[in-house]
Amino acid sequence: MQLFDTARQEVVPFEPRGGQVGIYVCGITPYDSAHLGHAFVYHVFDVLNRRFRDAGLTVRSVRNVTDVDDDILRVARERGVDFRELADEQVRLFDHDMAEIGLLAPDVEPRATEHVEEMVGWITRLVDGGYAYAVDGWVFFDSGVYPDYGRLSRLDHATMIELSRERGADPDDPRKRHPLDFVLWQASAPDEPSWPSPWSDGRPGWHIECTVMSTGALGHPVDIHGGGNDLIYPHHESEIAQAEAGGVAPYVRHWTHVAMVNLDGVKMSKSLGNLVFVRDLVKRVPGAAVRLLLAAHHYRVSWSYEDAEVEVAAMRLRRYLAAMQGGGTIGHEAALRHKQRFFERLDDDLDTPGALEVLDAIAQELAGGAEDAGPGTEGQQLLGRLLGVLGAEPGAVTA
Ligand SMILES: [Zn+2]
Repeated sequence: MQLFDTARQEVVPFEPRGGQVGIYVCGITPYDSAHLGHAFVYHVFDVLNRRFRDAGLTVRSVRNVTDVDDDILRVARERGVDFRELADEQVRLFDHDMAEIGLLAPDVEPRATEHVEEMVGWITRLVDGGYAYAVDGWVFFDSGVYPDYGRLSRLDHATMIELSRERGADPDDPRKRHPLDFVLWQASAPDEPSWPSPWSDGRPGWHIECTVMSTGALGHPVDIHGGGNDLIYPHHESEIAQAEAGGVAPYVRHWTHVAMVNLDGVKMSKSLGNLVFVRDLVKRVPGAAVRLLLAAHHYRVSWSYEDAEVEVAAMRLRRYLAAMQGGGTIGHEAALRHKQRFFERLDDDLDTPGALEVLDAIAQELAGGAEDAGPGTEGQQLLGRLLGVLGAEPGAVTA
């Protein structure tokens, strides 16, 4: 498998170790519904997972839940419910949506609130090592003593400052020694959930969660770590810094990031409200069709959602179904050739659009086959199996 690595900025071979692969993908902050941008990210890691499993590897997949966070607390307050209740409800809805589009459930789904003690331990290590400092019950990572900050994103200092401001950090916070220092621990207000720590009754920062939970579930180095490409900076950049400063280096072997989905030329995001929800799509077409819609886009190229794509994907699924249920057949040699091409495409940096072209060719040949061999021919079985590797097996995924 050749896979682009964000840290090296090139497509490189991914080598599993001892027949095993650990995958950690950053999960949701559960306060709102899953949209197509989420689905695109998680479908990519699902295809990767399925491809590895199909190749006989043992995969351990981990997707965390950031179940305490300023946004969750805000929405819970607005709705007058406990933040845990809101998070539980949203996780249930998210899991349901993802199951509708055939995502394999993660092997481990750690929740931030269940690992606070380990986070306090890690932060303590950073403070003791001189990589973090406490002010007024808050703890910040000291970017000034970690010269490699910016290595993953390859951004210069000024751009990082600008982006951190855009993405919710406050580079002008007077408590910070350097503008890029980030929060490891924050004191909670009296009406907010809190956990005891040496610095205050408070809660962890977002970045520390993933360093602690990824290494906790997978050890280190983590084979593949990723998420949407909007997480490269500051989230993953900060994860590396606190991991390495905490004595875990190398932290990750391979970084995989997925491009953003746009609507009318603007990134789909909760803050802008320009969202297409998975739950609405699966009311219109089978989940397998949604998977084909997603697979039609290469994971490293951002794209703009067009409503017409839904029908195109549904038609594609109908063609595949007709080919699988008709009486067409293709020769053994042709089947082998198609199979080889399909995996060549997938193994070339997860070229799912190229893999779909192979499935189109199989379906077309099956449809054009004159013989009436009945269902269950080699070509039909192959089409079903390959659709399964893309998580789009008709029947297994229903709406
Ligand atoms: Zn994360």
